[in-house]
Amino acid sequence: MAASLLSLLLCTATAVLWARSYTTFDDLDHTSTSLTPSDFTQHYIRLGSNNGRFLFTWRDITFLSNFSSFAYVTSTWDRANGLHFKHNPPFDLDLEMRSPRQPNERSWDTQLGGIRFKRLIQDATPRDAARRLGYRPANYYPGMIGVVVIVPHAYVAALFAILPVVALRKWWRRPRRGMCPSCGYDLTGNISGVCPECGTATADRGRLAV
Ligand SMILES: [Zn+2]
Repeated sequence: MAASLLSLLLCTATAVLWARSYTTFDDLDHTSTSLTPSDFTQHYIRLGSNNGRFLFTWRDITFLSNFSSFAYVTSTWDRANGLHFKHNPPFDLDLEMRSPRQPNERSWDTQLGGIRFKRLIQDATPRDAARRLGYRPANYYPGMIGVVVIVPHAYVAALFAILPVVALRKWWRRPRRGMCPSCGYDLTGNISGVCPECGTATADRGRLAV
């Protein structure tokens, strides 16, 4: 019961976000960084809602700590993956998520029935770059790992609707006095002990048999 209520609440919240998503970019994101003497890593995580879809992003970018084009690279990636859409909703992800493929990239992008999964792997950590070149380069493609998942609100709402609908159905079909516990047929005046509608033996049967 508690699970059904929670599910109903989440379903309602999803519906509200869904309606809002055509005029607003609701966006929760968090950026943090970690720094070692040689490496700088930016961690980025976000949950967004826009244009009938939820957008989840998680990604790490690792640079040499003295990498000069850090701001440029992150803004390019973020632009390509939805960060700037809050400024001009609704966005067209099919158009906007296209970004030029880097030479050290092993990414893939797949879609199934409106659900989109984008995996980004760009394997040049400073360590990798140094190993590859034999020295610490001043300029290189940064190491990057990330995931972008896009799910239509409709799917999430439908998923949260399952439990409430099952609970409602169960309540609607609850056994009631004078009614067949199986099909709900009115058994008033019935003494046969068997429901004439569906053939289910009713609770009165035992008493009648004695
Ligand atoms: Zn029946």
